[in-house]
This record gives sequence, structure tokens and C-alpha cells, in this order.
Amino acid sequence: MKIKSADFVMSNSNVANCPKDHLPEYAFIGRSNVGKSSLINMLTQRKSLAKTSGRPGKTQLINHFKINENWFLVDLPGYGYARVSKKDKKTFQKYITDYFIERRQLVCAFVLIDIRHEPQKVDMEFLEWMGENQIPFCMIFTKADKLKPKAIENHVNAYIKELLEGVWEEAPNYFVTSSTNGMGQEELLSFIDELNTNFFKALT
Ligand code: GDP
Repeated sequence: MKIKSADFVMSNSNVANCPKDHLPEYAFIGRSNVGKSSLINMLTQRKSLAKTSGRPGKTQLINHFKINENWFLVDLPGYGYARVSKKDKKTFQKYITDYFIERRQLVCAFVLIDIRHEPQKVDMEFLEWMGENQIPFCMIFTKADKLKPKAIENHVNAYIKELLEGVWEEAPNYFVTSSTNGMGQEELLSFIDELNTNFFKALT
């Protein structure tokens, strides 16, 4: 897929106010500093598209970008736990969970994971939450240029192993990317292109 246009549409904190267009939508989420803005800029071939959302005050918002006039790329803020009850029960921020549960147009979420690190509890729990709530998602490993090919393989395998030892029966789909050298860009855009085709086919 060629990126012909990429336009910022809106930011808001309430899924009810997200764009009403019935277009296929793809959300990008991960811990802060995982490389999300860089990945969005790399994918859309824009130097600072995601910086719009990086401005102070926009960090806790759901940011919609319209790509090629026919799909939405959604930049979600870094997730973390929100403490909700007296018992200190942990959950993720409500506007994030509401977004995933209520956004019908969401075709696939991309959960970003820094490939250099050991599996982190908050990431594993977030993936688990996505699975329990049947939200379609793939993992995107970021910053692969920081590792040699063999280490990439080892780190990915370690992650998958940990998932399979937990609640997962089957490992989620994943992509290995680098915003520095463009690794994974074509694969991701082709994947989205194919899902878009299916989305529009299903409407006819
Ligand atoms: P965000 O907070 O998730 O949006 O992360 P950023 O995109 O702002 O990236 C956080 C830091 O990681 C910055 O210093 C980036 O330059 C760096 N970074 C992001 N992606 C890559 C990558 O693919 N390779 C390398 N080497 N560094 C990256």
C-alpha cells in the first residue's frame, strides 16, 4: 500500500466522540517510550504525524488520523494501571478499555513491545485483557535494529514461550519492526491493506 495522504482528524477522551465514519480502524498502543510515535511516522512516511499527539495535554487522548481517505490509524496513549476500587483492584485506564470494547470499526489493534526487554508484567496483563475481551490484535516488536538477527529470534521466542506458559493456547500474530531502518513496514502495510479489502468486501 502506498500512503497518499495522512491527516490528523481529532483527539478526544471519549469513545462516543470518535469519528462516525464507517471506515476500518487500526489502533496502536504500548507503554510510553516503546517507539509508537516513531513507528506511526515510519508507517505513514511522515516525519512528525504522531507528534501532533505528543504535544503536552494530548498524551491522554485517543488520536484519529485518516489515511488514504479510507482507513483510520488511531494513536492511543501509553497504557498503565488505573486503581479503581478500595481493594486496590488494578485495571487499565477506562477510556482505553471503553475504546476497545465499544469501537465497532476496530479491525485490529497493534500492541507494541520493545524487543530488547524481558516480558514485562503490565504488557502480559494487557495482552491477557485483550484476549479475555476478544479484541483482535497483533503484537509489534519495536527497535529490532538494536539487536542482531539471532538475538531478535531469541527475544521473540522468549516472549512467545512466556505467553504460551500463561493463558494463551496459541501465540498471537506478530511483526518485527524498526523505525530506524524500515524493517516490517511493507509487511504491516500489506497486512492492513488485506484487512481493508476484506472489510469493504463484507459491506457489499
Ligand atoms: P513513544 O513514546 O512510544 O511514542 O516512543 P518514541 O517513538 O517517541 O520513541 C522513544 C525513543 O525510542 C526515542 O528516543 C526514539 O528515537 C527511540 N526509537 C523509537 N523507535 C526506534 C527504533 O526503531 N530503533 C531505535 N534504535 N530507536 C527507536
